[in-house]
Amino acid sequence: MTFKTLDDLPDMTGKVAVVRVDLNVPMQDGAVSDFTRLEAVKPTVDAIAAKGGRSVLLAHFDRPKGKVVPEMSLRQVIPALAKTLGRSVGFIELGDTLPADEVVVLENTRFHPGEEKNDGELAAQFAAYGDVYVNDAFSAAHRAHASTEAIARLLPAYAGATMGGELRALEAALGAPKRPVVAVVGGAKVSSKLAVLENLVAKVDHLIIGGGMANTFLYAQGIDTGKSLCEKDLADTAKAILAKAAEAGCKIHLPTDVVVAKEFKAHADNRVCAAGDVAADEMILDAGPATVAELADVLKASKTLVWNGPLGAFEMAPFDAATVALAKAAGDLTVKGSLLTVAGGGDTVAALAHAGVKDQFTHISTAGGAFLEWMEGRELPGVAALG
Ligand code: ADP
Ligand code: MG
Repeated sequence: MTFKTLDDLPDMTGKVAVVRVDLNVPMQDGAVSDFTRLEAVKPTVDAIAAKGGRSVLLAHFDRPKGKVVPEMSLRQVIPALAKTLGRSVGFIELGDTLPADEVVVLENTRFHPGEEKNDGELAAQFAAYGDVYVNDAFSAAHRAHASTEAIARLLPAYAGATMGGELRALEAALGAPKRPVVAVVGGAKVSSKLAVLENLVAKVDHLIIGGGMANTFLYAQGIDTGKSLCEKDLADTAKAILAKAAEAGCKIHLPTDVVVAKEFKAHADNRVCAAGDVAADEMILDAGPATVAELADVLKASKTLVWNGPLGAFEMAPFDAATVALAKAAGDLTVKGSLLTVAGGGDTVAALAHAGVKDQFTHISTAGGAFLEWMEGRELPGVAALG
């Protein structure tokens, strides 16, 4: 898809850009505890300033559901944002006139019932603050809201720097990727990622299925998974996905050996066994070393990797071993230049950080829901509106 970027912005002297950003930052004891999302705002604000313009930022915070909830005011984010941007940051409520600051934050868009209804009148009130619209919140792009969709039809619309980077990386990974392409889909349940699996089997050359969801696939193939997390009612769905993969020429990789324990807790007594040798009182908590070695070879032979979902219960040592080992293999190949690596998902990002490879991957998406919907092959309304 084609969209305008900040390079296409006209001279902005004396003008204002209304910029949708992600300020939904984690807070601890009244202070911002992770600056990642604030740092992501800086390149766009700087690019607008470089063209002579000012920025009015639109963002949501938490889930006030269309009502004013004082604890969810964006006012609390202002000091950290001003520090991160190195600029004066003002704060207004909808209807207030713009102060002279270089950057102005408008109060939580979700305080208004029209935001989540994609209301045109609310969008017009947002749009009235500026001359152009910039969307830099990929993480909110899967929602058609007044600040992400309706407003893009009221002003000349551009993708911000962070949004543009995300879209380019995603395009390189699944749009027109270098082949072979391998996808890793792991995590707890098949049911939460059915649409992802169905989309990927038609697009990738290798699909690695890991985590709890692999158990459902093993079960569907007649393997007893003992006490493992397993959605037995989805066995037929799993079989249909396997059939679709075979038809599309997508090779599916399931664990051949596994790490099992009798308890779901860190440092539980465990053993490695063949996937078919799980006892009735055992549960699969990780992929085994032989599986990791096979998967590392698949990565070595591939040019592009898309990853969502850990291979095991990575929060509990030692069941993080397969995820960490494969993440390191992917990181090494990326640094060597033979593999382009794109990953996303709340737990996936945590797992990759735990493996120490966050800086090695080509691109790690900060978006949770939007990343998954993109992996499902769906058009994101906030992105479509920029076209
Ligand atoms: P993401 O947030 O990256 O999309 P998910 O939420 O789908 O990932 O999956 C992460 C969760 O899956 C983790 O909490 C992890 O403990 C769990 N998980 C992975 N493998 C297993 C397993 N074999 N048994 C139970 N839970 C698992
Ligand atoms: Mg999760």
